[in-house]
Amino acid sequence: MEPAGGDVLSKLWATFTPVSRPPLASRGEPRWRRSRLTPRTALPVRRDCWASPPANPPWPRPAAKARAGGNPPFGSLLVGPDGTVPAEAGNTSLTDDEITAHPELKLARWAARELDQDTAARTTMYTSCQPCGMCTGAIERSGLGRVVFALSSEQLNTLKPAGSGFPRVPAEGPALWEEARVPVEGYYQ
Ligand SMILES: [Zn+2]
Repeated sequence: MEPAGGDVLSKLWATFTPVSRPPLASRGEPRWRRSRLTPRTALPVRRDCWASPPANPPWPRPAAKARAGGNPPFGSLLVGPDGTVPAEAGNTSLTDDEITAHPELKLARWAARELDQDTAARTTMYTSCQPCGMCTGAIERSGLGRVVFALSSEQLNTLKPAGSGFPRVPAEGPALWEEARVPVEGYYQ
C-alpha cells in the first residue's frame, strides 16, 4: 500500500481533533515498557479517517528517531479505536544488541499484553516498512486488527545493496512423529 498524498494528509491533519489520554507511565506499566515504547497522549487521528494513515510527520517519525539513535531506520505506532496513539516504537536491534528488537514485534507484544481482545481488533499498526516474517507471526498472534505499511519489502530492497539479505537456513523434518507427538496429543481440544 502506498501512503496517500501529502496534500490530502495535510488537509485531513488540519481537521483532526486531539483526544486526551493519560500517559502509559501513569497507569502502572512495567518499567521496561516505558523505556522501550514511547506513549503518545494526543495524536489527532479520527476514527472516520481510517483509510488514511496518520499524517506527516508523526507516521515516519519513529523510523527517523530510530536511525538518529544509531539503529536501523524502522519504526511503528499503534492507533486505537478512539483515534489516539497508545504506543510507538523504533528498531533498537543495534543499541540493544538484540536481533529481534523490531518495532512491530515490540508493539505486537505490547498489544497482546495490554489490550483487551475487542480493543486490539480495532487497533491498527502503522509501520514504516512491511513487517518481516518474524514480526508478521507476532502480529497474527497479537489480536491486532490491521496493519498499514509505508514501504513494501520489495521497495525496501531497492534501497539496499544487492545481496544484503539474510541467508536461508535449511529446515528438515518431520523426523520423529511417534516421539514428538506425545507432549502435544490432547493439548488442543
Ligand atoms: Zn520484523
